[in-house]
Amino acid sequence: MREHDRLFIGGNWAAPAGTGVIEVVSPHTEEVIGRVPEGTEADVDAAVAAARRAFDHGPWPRMTPAERAAVLGRLSAIYAERQQEMADLVTAEMGSPILFSIFGQAALPQMVLQYYADLAASYPWEEERPGMLGPVTVTREPVGVVAAVYPWNVPQFTLMLKLAPALLAGCTVVAKPSPETPLDAYLLAEWVREAGVPDGVINFVPAGREVGAYLVAHRDVDKVAFTGSTAAGRQIGEVCGRQLKPVTLELGGKSAAIILEDADLATTIEGFKMASLMNNGEACAAQTRILAPRSRYDEVADALTAMVAGLNVGDPADYGTEIGPLVARRQQERVENYIRVGQDEGAKLLTGGLTRPHDRGWYVAPTVFGDVSNDMRIAREEIFGPVLALIPYDGEDDAVRIANDSDYGLGGSVWTADVDHGVEVARRIRTGSCGVNLYVLDPNTPFGGYKDSGLGRELGPEGLTAYLEHKAIPRPHPAS
Ligand code: NAD
Repeated sequence: MREHDRLFIGGNWAAPAGTGVIEVVSPHTEEVIGRVPEGTEADVDAAVAAARRAFDHGPWPRMTPAERAAVLGRLSAIYAERQQEMADLVTAEMGSPILFSIFGQAALPQMVLQYYADLAASYPWEEERPGMLGPVTVTREPVGVVAAVYPWNVPQFTLMLKLAPALLAGCTVVAKPSPETPLDAYLLAEWVREAGVPDGVINFVPAGREVGAYLVAHRDVDKVAFTGSTAAGRQIGEVCGRQLKPVTLELGGKSAAIILEDADLATTIEGFKMASLMNNGEACAAQTRILAPRSRYDEVADALTAMVAGLNVGDPADYGTEIGPLVARRQQERVENYIRVGQDEGAKLLTGGLTRPHDRGWYVAPTVFGDVSNDMRIAREEIFGPVLALIPYDGEDDAVRIANDSDYGLGGSVWTADVDHGVEVARRIRTGSCGVNLYVLDPNTPFGGYKDSGLGRELGPEGLTAYLEHKAIPRPHPAS
């Protein structure tokens, strides 16, 4: 049991303004495993004031990138040493299978932190350009106080996509963890103190969406970075639009995996364990539309059904588990409702369905629907659970058309024996990323969405640029 009665604000453990408490419930046992204060608007005011002071008067934005990178490097070293603790904690909070958690909930966030620490040395912070009337210095300055609002599914990863580049840029941050997963932020806050990050540079206010909305609209916040649902992203985008505040939005997805005629089926289907079902299917970039050539449709249906039916569903802390419980009863009911929708729409249930694999815990049977047409709701709407839609296609152009026939544009993949040809197909998919024979998010390359999947990019040098203002300083040619 982890009990916290303070908030990490201004580098200290501050007493919360309110008396509300967030209870963190294990999705496996349905028992309370932790309590933290529920942040209020007054706590947001205090956190933003601390971040504002640290930005306007503190050392952080005035340090050189190399000096900030050294602090990030210290934090990264602590993270690397204690990442198992982080993986165990996120698994306990939200049910991520421990083997995925070790990678996606702990190692990957640490790699992102280290990536940005290393990027400081090669990033073009300042350059001289020839101008019309003389030389121009083009410099990049931190955008200011950042509000980072992030979801429960990969809390450390989605936070680190914002925190690491914001800090390297010289920004200060108020982060709002989701009420489902506030505990991992407390562990990170301990490490932030150990690493010697100056007071007020990072602040955490765990709270629900109303307090999140208050933070986003706060006049002393200069930039918003949000990961979450498309519905919330639209609201946040509207607020930032009115205030002309820069905003990065990483939103939902309904990505397609295209199996080409020549794909090796055994490795392809095995690859879907990660690409389509990672993190119990609670992944924005999960490829939940499986596009199969009609000529191989039966073969694909059989292999996919066998793989999904054979998945080990159980205690997420168990190293043999492939699918754990969903984050909350609400999410279990949402996913089950989509299974009902699929049946009502006439899709063919190939495996899974509404029988719960365990009586206790928020489990859903991993499910495959066959004979899905791309206009069904189960092919258009984000389900956010282990439910796959198998869609037949006729020819490669048809596959590309179906993949692109989506309101979303986040991820995707192409599976083929001819990698060069796979790359050509990937170029035709209107999404922010599309893998060939794998799907992976690389710290060094941009990640983000086309269409309703978002605005802007995280990761890579692009992810750092999002936290910088560009300033030009022109001057006359020196007198000769
Ligand atoms: P959500 O939008 O309900 O909440 C996300 C976060 O935003 C939470 O911290 C929540 O408290 C806060 N929030 C909600 N409405 C807000 C508002 N109007 N103003 C300010 N804050 C607000 O999403 P969720 O259910 O927690 O997470 C699942 C969603 O996140 C899925 O749609 C998934 O695709 C998306 N997601 C996207 C990515 C990506 O990188 N594109 C990554 C992970 C998750």
